[in-house]
Amino acid sequence: MRTLIIEDNCELAVLLADRLNARGIKSDIAANLEEADDHVAVGQFDAIMLDLGLPDGDGLDWLGKLPRERPPVLVLSARSTLDERVLGLNSGADDYLVKPAEIDEIAARLRALVRRPGIREPVDLKVGNLTFDTTNRQATLNGQVLAISRKEANFLEILLRSVGKVVPRERLEGALYSASDPVTPNALEAVASRLRRRLAEAGEDDILHTVRGVGYFFGKRKAQ
Ligand code: CA
Repeated sequence: MRTLIIEDNCELAVLLADRLNARGIKSDIAANLEEADDHVAVGQFDAIMLDLGLPDGDGLDWLGKLPRERPPVLVLSARSTLDERVLGLNSGADDYLVKPAEIDEIAARLRALVRRPGIREPVDLKVGNLTFDTTNRQATLNGQVLAISRKEANFLEILLRSVGKVVPRERLEGALYSASDPVTPNALEAVASRLRRRLAEAGEDDILHTVRGVGYFFGKRKAQ
């Protein structure tokens, strides 16, 4: 899962990004609305966290100008009165939290926002004997909990949401690394091979496949 944090308090933005990262949510940071526009134009985000008092304008005005097809927006603002919160929601915010907010609640609300559209996504993703608990970021195969890193868990989740289909490497890179992270050419393959090892240890040694130069897919090879 990937978010855009729009926040002009740099220290707070970095702290939020770090703490969300520790909960499996990758973030890019925009310090003003101009930067936010740039990020939205090129990045694919599952959700946006929006501060309201920004140096080059008001977050709510910006929100009103976003296209209809946009990721859900969680406002995180110091504006705390009932009128201000109602105005935020009536202006199109999908959710509203008052600063300071607890990081666990922010992460939970972001997840809830991403789950919300369309058909409700199950909290557990199940494929064969493999279960991935999207809340606790835990994968279980043949009854055995896999010891996987955060990045491996994110990689696995994306593949499990598209079982049997090749997921392009650009999409995985976009979801696993933020714009400021250097991505080496072999980084994804390293994540995949560690994950493959964990899966093999739990009894599945032919389920995660590389399509060289294209991407990755999860499933039995015959299905392709
Ligand atoms: Ca601010």
